[in-house]
Amino acid sequence: MDGSPLKGAHALVTGGGRGIGAAIAAVLSENGAKVTLVGRKRQPLEKQAGQLPQPARAQVCDVTEEAAVEDAFAEAGKQFGPVSILVNNAGAAESAPFLKTEPEQWRRHLEVNLMGTVLCTRQALPAMTEAGYGRVINVASTAAQTGYAYVSAYCASKHAVLGLTRSLALEYARKGVTVNAVCPGYADTDMADDSVNRIMEKTGRNREEALSALTRVNPQGRLVQPREVGMAVLGLCLPDTGAITGQAISISGGEVL
Ligand code: NDP
Repeated sequence: MDGSPLKGAHALVTGGGRGIGAAIAAVLSENGAKVTLVGRKRQPLEKQAGQLPQPARAQVCDVTEEAAVEDAFAEAGKQFGPVSILVNNAGAAESAPFLKTEPEQWRRHLEVNLMGTVLCTRQALPAMTEAGYGRVINVASTAAQTGYAYVSAYCASKHAVLGLTRSLALEYARKGVTVNAVCPGYADTDMADDSVNRIMEKTGRNREEALSALTRVNPQGRLVQPREVGMAVLGLCLPDTGAITGQAISISGGEVL
């Protein structure tokens, strides 16, 4: 493998301004891809785009809004050509006991985690099919592979993403397009930090105790690093990994799922 295996590729990463999405964008750029970073806030997207070694641009877009997603892909295509790698990473996670999870919270999880993925994938697939080549990677979670208490809406939305991944992989198996999910355990980002703060607030535990509630789920006893997710995504994007499709790749230190 030379230093730029993704040369000529255009990767669109949703939620690319921070956390796992920013790390994925960095790894893809380091390996030669032009990158479009999508999110709702311009400033973190522009900051991240400015740090990448290959051409990169910020695209403000809420992935739950169909017309905005359509415009974002049109604009991205004009700038860097058709999207050949789509990383559906934008996500939302809130926790609450089931009976305290309001219908509005359910809708929010399904809108961002599932429908955001659906809307972006609908925009990307026609050009991938026409080219006879494409990579769709959905950033799901170990919560797509097993249940956890107090996060029913999040778990259900991520299970839905995995179901979508498996179905699309079969539907596009003969079209040169692979569709996979990466499934991180608790990762070192703002999202995990929010979980620590919520645990502290609800249980009165201190930060160290709250953090250990997350890290003890991982047999390696630590948070997953965003770059580790990026490296798994890179593997799925390489031109000669086309036989891997419809898979859920756990990045969780060996958690038994
Ligand atoms: P963060 O909360 O740090 O970042 C979320 C990203 O998604 C932000 O860039 C945000 O940008 C973007 N985003 C959220 N809603 C929308 C929207 N409606 N439209 C466009 N962009 C949106 O999350 P992480 O980096 O931790 O998580 C990334 C993914 O990984 C998520 O899908 C998450 O479920 C998954 N994951 C995370 C784990 C963890 O422990 N951190 C574990 C397992 C999976 P902006 O606010 O600008 O819109």
